[in-house]
Parts: sequence; structure tokens; C-alpha cells
Amino acid sequence: MEKREKLYEGKAKILYLTDDPELVIQYFKDDATAFNAQKKGSIHQKGIYNNRISSQLFQLLEKQGMATHFVEQMNDREMLVKKVDIMPIEVVARNRVAGSLAKRMGLAEGITLAHPILEFYYKRDDLGDPMINEDHIAVFELANKEEVAGIKKAALAVNEFLRDWFAEINISLVDFKLEYGRYGGQILLADEITPDGCRLWDMQTEEKLDKDRFRRDLGKIEEAYREVYKRICQKTGCIN
Ligand code: ADP
Ligand code: UDP
Repeated sequence: MEKREKLYEGKAKILYLTDDPELVIQYFKDDATAFNAQKKGSIHQKGIYNNRISSQLFQLLEKQGMATHFVEQMNDREMLVKKVDIMPIEVVARNRVAGSLAKRMGLAEGITLAHPILEFYYKRDDLGDPMINEDHIAVFELANKEEVAGIKKAALAVNEFLRDWFAEINISLVDFKLEYGRYGGQILLADEITPDGCRLWDMQTEEKLDKDRFRRDLGKIEEAYREVYKRICQKTGCIN
């Protein structure tokens, strides 16, 4: 596999083309942003932990028969993935009240939902990723009805599996963001599943083990990412 030119540089990752037109390399940076990139910083070794965490989780999902873009973890910061046409939709799955849902509903963070909630956001940084519904997706042709039905089913299945899996390592999966992309006739789960895009709370202490430590200046950010990886490895057998 030969690494070719940079295709795209985002806030947390860089995509590189390869000599195979169907594959790209995701390079995980230490850069961190929050509040629509108004807050910027760097978290020491975040890229390494996010690459490892995401690789472990994608492999678990693949074992469950869920279709993802994951091909292999190449090294500490790089992951080989199938090059998809990303849908401009961010799917958020929630099991407990937190973040923007707490604000919108005027509720305290932490309340467990009667059943998971799925939300859609328009993936547009210049607009601040506004919340949208299925009518917006259909009218503005962000995805067709069949694709939306497939994404909803897949995202709920990922949530159910990961929520139960994380519970076994004493982590509460409060909420998380997923991105999907088109690959030939398939829809694949793409991007990353990391503490950058998930809320992960210790089940006993409710300590935050995710990017909220950066957003809210709680300190011990690198330690939190490392702790998540350590617990994942306790269950999968990976080396931390
Ligand atoms: P952002 O674009 O929000 O700043 P990142 O820094 O994480 O985010 O950049 C990674 C970009 O790569 C994202 O826009 C994401 O949608 C896109 N992406 C993720 N997985 C794939 C893939 N398999 N193929 C093509 N693009 C992808
Ligand atoms: N999220 C994300 N990218 C975004 C917006 C949200 O990864 O652009 C994740 C976030 O980390 C959290 C979940 O989606 O785990 C729900 O986020 P929320 O809507 O509460 O927004 P926030 O208050 O985090 O901005």
C-alpha cells in the first residue's frame, strides 16, 4: 500500500489517497476543537488513542456483521479505510440526557431515556451543523428514503451493541455521533468512534471520560482517553 497525496485535512484527521482508488488513509491528529471550532487546542497523544480506540470498536462491529469502512490499523496514527462518499448527515444516538439535549429540553444531564433517541444534523460547519429531520433530508435530497431507513436501523443496532459492550467495561455510553457513506451499492459506517464524538461516563463515579473534559476545562484529558483505551483492551486483549 503506497501513501499518496493529501485528499483533505479536517479538524481532527487528515485523509490521504493511496495507490488503490478504493482506499484512503485516515491520519489521526492531536488537534482538538469544540463549539464549532471556536475553541481550539491540542490533546497530547489523542490521535494515537483515537486511532486505537476506533480500530478496536470497528473490528468489534465488523465481527457483529455490521458494515464499516475499516480495513486495518496501519500504525499508531493511521487507519486504512474504504473511500466512501460521506453523506452530509451526522447521526446522533442518545441513551441518556446530556449536552444539547439537556439544553433543548431543560433537563439535568444524566437522566436515562425510556428508549434511545436518534437525531440528525446537517453536516455543515459553516452553518454550525443544524438539527434536521427526515423531511429536510428528503426535500433537500441529502439521502433517499431507503438510505435513511437503512441508516436508522444500522445506527440503532450499533448503539445497542456498543451500549451493552461498554457497560461491561464499566462505561456508560451516554450519546455519540456517527457518519455514514456510500460505497458502491452499500452504505458503510465511516469516520471514527472515539471519545471525541462520544460521551462516555464511568458507571460508578459518573466521571467523564471524553471530550467534555476539553470542552468544559475539566483537566486530565489525555488520562481519560488512555483510560478508555485501557478498559477496551481489558476486554478485547489489545496491548495498551
Ligand atoms: P471534519 O471534516 O469535521 O473537520 P475530521 O478532521 O475528522 O472532521 O476529517 C475527516 C473527514 O473525513 C470528515 O469530513 C469525514 O466525514 C471524512 N471521512 C471519514 N471517513 C471517510 C471515508 N471512509 N471516506 C471518505 N471520507 C471519510
Ligand atoms: N458530536 C460530535 N460532533 C458534532 C456534534 C456532536 O461528535 O459536531 C457528538 C458529541 O461528542 C456528543 C453527541 O454527538 O457525544 C451529542 O452532542 P450534542 O448534540 O449534545 O452537542 P454538544 O453539546 O456536544 O455540542
